[in-house]
Amino acid sequence: MSTPRPFPSAKATTSYWRSTTLPIDTHSSTKDLPAHADVVIIGAGYCGTSIAHHLLTESKRQGHSAPSIAILEARQACSGATGRNGGHLKPDPYLRAARILETHGKKVAEHVASFEARQVQDVQDLIQSSGIDCDFEETMVSDVCLDNAGSFKTGQALRKAVAAGISTAQTIERTTGLEAERSLNSEIANEHKVSGIRGAKSCHKYKAARLWPYRLVCQMLETCVSQGVNLQTMTPVTSVLPQGDGEGWRVTTSRGSMTAAKIVHATNGYSSGLLPELRDRIVPVRGICAHLQGQGPQPPISDSYMLRFNDFEYDYLVPRPDGSIVVGGARRDYFKNLESWFNVDDDSTLIEPARHYFDGYMQRNFLGWENTNTQTEQVWTGIMGYSADGFPYVGEVPAKPGSYICAGFTGHGMPQIFHSAKHIALLLLNGKVDKQHAVPVPYQTDAERWGSSQEHSSLTLWRSVTEGSQLRSKI
Ligand SMILES: Cc1cc2nc3c(=O)[nH]c(=O)nc-3n(C[C@H](O)[C@H](O)[C@H](O)COP(=O)(O)OP(=O)(O)OC[C@H]3O[C@@H](n4cnc5c(N)ncnc54)[C@H](O)[C@@H]3O)c2cc1C
Repeated sequence: MSTPRPFPSAKATTSYWRSTTLPIDTHSSTKDLPAHADVVIIGAGYCGTSIAHHLLTESKRQGHSAPSIAILEARQACSGATGRNGGHLKPDPYLRAARILETHGKKVAEHVASFEARQVQDVQDLIQSSGIDCDFEETMVSDVCLDNAGSFKTGQALRKAVAAGISTAQTIERTTGLEAERSLNSEIANEHKVSGIRGAKSCHKYKAARLWPYRLVCQMLETCVSQGVNLQTMTPVTSVLPQGDGEGWRVTTSRGSMTAAKIVHATNGYSSGLLPELRDRIVPVRGICAHLQGQGPQPPISDSYMLRFNDFEYDYLVPRPDGSIVVGGARRDYFKNLESWFNVDDDSTLIEPARHYFDGYMQRNFLGWENTNTQTEQVWTGIMGYSADGFPYVGEVPAKPGSYICAGFTGHGMPQIFHSAKHIALLLLNGKVDKQHAVPVPYQTDAERWGSSQEHSSLTLWRSVTEGSQLRSKI
């Protein structure tokens, strides 16, 4: 069970992505911490690294020298959620937008959907222009519902998003009934290249990407360090306090302290460790993933997948270039046991009930895989930052001038972080962000959102699921 204030655990399960590490993994740019930096970024995941990247590139673009930057990371570089996720860079082109249409209207729904979609191209451009080797691949996603209710609801959401003119929903192909199940791998149905998932009720196809997140982030970090960023790994920050004279911050770590003019919390699931007022607003949520591998022949898969079993159980899956597979989810086996995942900051152990969920996964779900010997090769956990309202917190911390946060990506950071980080970098450099680069309004930090006492949406969902099953068992 989690401590009241979450901090990265000293050890962690080893993810597939971190099985071989790069030299920057335990880097310290200087033997001791620098005495001072203009900007201290806490956290060397995708978010903290992207903020440093944008600070450097924007400063260059604006024609002035970059501020001095230090990144303080509690463990190894990219050892948090980014180094242990599913490797899916998958914007949500319609489901989220359909929900936001109801709560915030069309302008915000379109902003959120296109904000996510744009990041695939922009990250691809960065990878190509910088020669980053991270197995980036554009992919089609087969987003499959395995229950009739889910198929109905996702169909409704798609129609609503299309009718409202949400740009990213317009090109989604929807297939239902038998057509949705037809195997990509089955010779008899070779012309029906739809999902290949046994029992599929519907399949929505759209574009996304997949990549090796650890390699992306570490290579971005290498560039930042080569341009003067002081990276200190294995340096947990224990407190951040305003300096007595009201000018900047004193940052205390296990290796001594330093001062900073401005501070950025890029600590995602651990944000309330240093900002305790966020305790109920950004909660550490433990997730689980596996790497599957087979010895003999297995049918090729080209798409990435979402498999939705009902409202709260879903898996995500990416094929790797070597034919192996990374798959995450497994909520079927643990979601009702709240203490195993909600408010848990320990990624040194597995979610025990889900340890064997991935065994026989391909044989169970993929047509044509029944006789393969694909096996679970590695299982690991990671800590996500789930925000109470499902939106990340991106902006200045209310009532703490010079302190910023970019966190709470709610298990969906890969298509949101790069441009959220740019928003923060522009705020740090210019004090404001132009409309073109601003994050969607619900991401922004204001005192009302910060102080909200609305129940965390994950708790609401958990309650509805557990109370629903108690009700069903009484009938
Ligand atoms: C199992 C799993 C599967 C996922 N799958 C996907 C997916 O397929 N697609 C997707 O979009 N998203 C996925 N996510 C979510 C995604 O990984 C995150 O949204 C994203 O990586 C968050 O990046 P970040 O940099 O904000 O956080 P992190 O990568 O967690 O980085 C935060 C860093 O801050 C450091 N830190 C925290 N507190 C302190 C402190 N006090 N002092 C110093 N350092 C500190 C941590 O050690 C950590 O390295 C998944 C997450 C998990 C756990």
